[in-house]
This record gives sequence, C-alpha cells and structure tokens, in this order.
Amino acid sequence: MEIDSMVANSALIRAREGGGSKGRSWKWKEMLRFPHISQCMDLAMNIERDYYSLCVKQPIGKKLFELFCRSRPELQNYISLLDALEAFDSKSDEQRKEFGVSIIQRFLRNLHKYLSGETFIQYQESMFFDRFLQWNWFICLQPITKHAFRQYRLLGKGGFGEVWACQVRATGMMYACKKLEKTHVKKRKGEGMALNEKQILEGLDSRFVVNLAYAYETKHALCMVLTMMSGGDLKYHIHNIGSPGLDKERVRFYAAEVCCGLIHLHQKSILYRDLKPENILLDDNGHIRISDLGLAVRLTDGQLVRGRVGTVGYMAPEVIGHKHYGMSADWWGLGCLIYEMTAGQPPLRARGEHPKPSEMERRILTEQEEYGDKFSKQVKDLCSSLLNKDPAQRLGCRGSGGTEVQSHPFFEKVNFRMLEAGLVEPPFKPDPRLVYCSDVQDIEEFSSVKGVTLDQTDSNFYSQFITGSVPITWQNEMIETGCFRELNTFGPEGSRSPDLDW
Ligand code: ADP
Ligand code: MG
Ligand code: MG
Repeated sequence: MEIDSMVANSALIRAREGGGSKGRSWKWKEMLRFPHISQCMDLAMNIERDYYSLCVKQPIGKKLFELFCRSRPELQNYISLLDALEAFDSKSDEQRKEFGVSIIQRFLRNLHKYLSGETFIQYQESMFFDRFLQWNWFICLQPITKHAFRQYRLLGKGGFGEVWACQVRATGMMYACKKLEKTHVKKRKGEGMALNEKQILEGLDSRFVVNLAYAYETKHALCMVLTMMSGGDLKYHIHNIGSPGLDKERVRFYAAEVCCGLIHLHQKSILYRDLKPENILLDDNGHIRISDLGLAVRLTDGQLVRGRVGTVGYMAPEVIGHKHYGMSADWWGLGCLIYEMTAGQPPLRARGEHPKPSEMERRILTEQEEYGDKFSKQVKDLCSSLLNKDPAQRLGCRGSGGTEVQSHPFFEKVNFRMLEAGLVEPPFKPDPRLVYCSDVQDIEEFSSVKGVTLDQTDSNFYSQFITGSVPITWQNEMIETGCFRELNTFGPEGSRSPDLDW
C-alpha cells in the first residue's frame, strides 16, 4: 500500500475513534455562539407556527417544548404520561402488556384530574347539566309506590314473603319484586336482617350480584325490586333437568362467574355466607348473579365475625365450630357449589339422603368428602383445596384472596378480564319460552300472621328501608330500555328545547 493512503486511512480511523466531542475544534463554542435574540426577530415573524412541526417533529424543538412543560406545575400530569409512553417504547414485548395497562390507568387518572377542573365547572353551567338535574328529579323526588309497576306471576317464596315478576310501567323494564310481609318481619324480628340486605344491595354495583333498583312499601309489605333473573336457580338446573349435575363447561363458567362475584363482595368487605345452588340465579342470557344477601355482613377493617350462620350442609367448619372467621367461609361455599354442580349432590351427603343437622355438622367437621369418577383431576384438586377444613390452608385464604382461586389450573382457559366485562358467551342459554321455576300452584301460599300490630317504631324502621330509586340502577334502566335516548333530545343547534327553558 502506498504510504499516502496509509496516512489517509489512519487519519480517518483516528477521527472515527475520537468521534463526537473529541473531534471538535477547540473553537467550537465560539463557532456555536448564540446570536442575540434581537437578531432572531425576523425569524420569529416568519417561522411557521405549526405545533406538530415545532414541538413534535423537530428534535430540538421537541426538547425545548418539553423543558417548557416541565417548568409548569399544572402540566406535570402530561409530562409524566409522555415519559411513560417513551419508556413503553423501550420495553420488550413481554413487559409491554403489563406496562401498557399501567399507563392506561395513569392516563385515565390524569384525564379525570384534568376534566374535574375547569371543564367540570363549565359543564355545571351548561344545558347538559340542567338536563342531568331534570333526570335526577325523577330519582330523588318522585315517590315510588306499587302503581309504578305492573305485576306478573309469582316466582318464588322466601322467608318473609313472596317474590313476583314485575314491570316498570314507565319504561317496560322487567324486575323481580321481593316482598317482605311487615307482620312476618315483625313477628320474627327480621327488621335488622331486612335492612341489612337492602343496605348492602344498594351499595353494590356488580354484574355478578343482583342489583337493587327500588325499595318501597305497600300497606302490608316492604318491597325490594331486583334484577330479574328469569333463567332459574342453579339448584333447579343441577337437580331438575336431566340427570343430576352439570357438564364441565357449565361448571367452569358458573364457578368462574361466582368467583368474580365473591371477589367483588370481598373487595367491599362483604362476607356473603350463604353460597348454595339455590341462591345462584341465571338471567335470560345464561349469566349468573349471586342473590339473597340476607346473611351477608360487612366486616370493618378486616375484623372477623362469629356466628353459626348459613344453611345446614353448606356451612364451613370454622362457622359450625363457633370460631371467629372471615372471607374463608365463602371460599368453602364455592367448594361446596363446584362439588354439587359436578357430582349432582352436595359433599358428604348421599343421593336422596337427609341427615339431621347435627349429623351434617359432625361430617363437615370430621369426615373427608369423596370424589367419584365425575371429577377430573383438576376439579377434584380445586374442590379439595377449597374444602380444606383448615381455613388458613384453604385456597382463597393463603394471602392473595380470590386471585389464588382464579389462578387454579381448572380456570386456565378462562379469560377473567373478558368475563368481568361480560364478553364471554355463556355455555348454556335458557329457553326464552320456558319458565324456570316451580308452577305457581306448587309454590306454597304465604300464610298471614295474626295478632301482630304495627306501630310507630315500625314506621321508623320502614322509613329507613323505603328509600325509593337506587340512582345507578335507575339510570341504567333508562339507558337499557332506550328511554334515555328517546327523551334526551335538545332543541335545534344545541339550544335548550322549549320545555327546558326555565
Ligand atoms: P329469602 O331471603 O327469603 O330466602 P330469596 O331472595 O332467596 O328470599 O327469594 C326467594 C325465591 O324467590 C328464590 O328462591 C327465587 O326462586 C326467587 N327469586 C328471588 N330473587 C329473584 C330474582 N332476582 N329473579 C327471579 N327470581 C328470584
Ligand atoms: Mg333464599
Ligand atoms: Mg335471605
């Protein structure tokens, strides 16, 4: 090689190695000295003020805009979001999903923080908020009486009264009206229980628990108007259709939805305590909801309760044994439910056998349940983990609550996020031409109580009970029935419609 080209090559190599700052002229700062801002006036006049070009596309432009934003306390929300999005780009595919979800949550928080400021103030001065007040007037000021409903057939019988199908006259929405006979409630001192059920229900909004829509009174009864569940209860489906038990896909689906329902209740510190097939109801699409919250209790600050409460045969050992207990009792209940759906009979009881309560309790405390050949390895494992007699060892009670149950291999195929969103198609759809409950004449008539008189203390209790429409359920009723869409019109070009001008 010629000496010339060797020199040229090594000069290039050295310059390359130095790269960047080492190759700068010693006069570099002088060369890049900023002009006085007065020299930029022309530029300022003529530069195109395009946000995207100036603040997003041009790299230095972007950096300066960012620095500007960082200097503004009111813009910190956006900055943290931009930072997160930038970090997202550098994540691996596996990391992205979880990270993306956290960004969306942060984004929503920030968005609502922003909207709750000036925007919220402006909204309250707009015609849209006037309209909101008009809708709310119905909820708060319109008294609810039996005249608001049409009554259809008897659906079932409860401890204090009957449950009837009913329909709201104004909207056409179907509901189930659970009536509590005032005299029965009083005679059996059921006031606390009735109020407890009503108050717990009105504080819930879950697609896996029946919703309360209205609470009102008639001369003889207190009424809770609940989500209509026309598909019958699981007791009926397990025992009255075909051979006892349900196929594996239905067991999995109902178990998964009940599990989500329990998680919702437990998140609100509510222990349900009455899990059994007859309290799990199907709607007309085949989704389930937990119903009958008469025995539910709110546990404040993770405190435990005591009390032999529940239904014989479904109570957990710690409940029977007079111990203090918490959410563990419900995970036992889920074990019983999955067992019964699979086997066609509850654990520790032979088909058609009706042992005395004391015998059932003895078995629950001391005997091991048996798993026949209807149980796959996975269902057996799930049931026996839930039916662990030691609440501390039980699945669902080992530290991470319901997620432990959801992570069991039996639920591997279940997408719980989709399930929570109501996007999983039920494996069985009730036949709309069938009525899934006992014939009206087979439901025992409700006997009246004699010799009970109602007085002022009763009226005080009633007034706590009859709070009328439950806002969220009522608003959903308006939307689902199309009444909202049809009535919520405004005058031309967004002006208030004539009847709104007040
Ligand atoms: P209780 O607390 O007195 O046991 P339930 O709430 O269990 O009363 O209701 C009694 C019966 O009424 C149930 O077994 C069921 O047949 C029927 N029922 C209750 N709620 C509904 C509902 N939301 N939709 C349809 N039927 C219902
Ligand atoms: Mg019941
Ligand atoms: Mg009840």
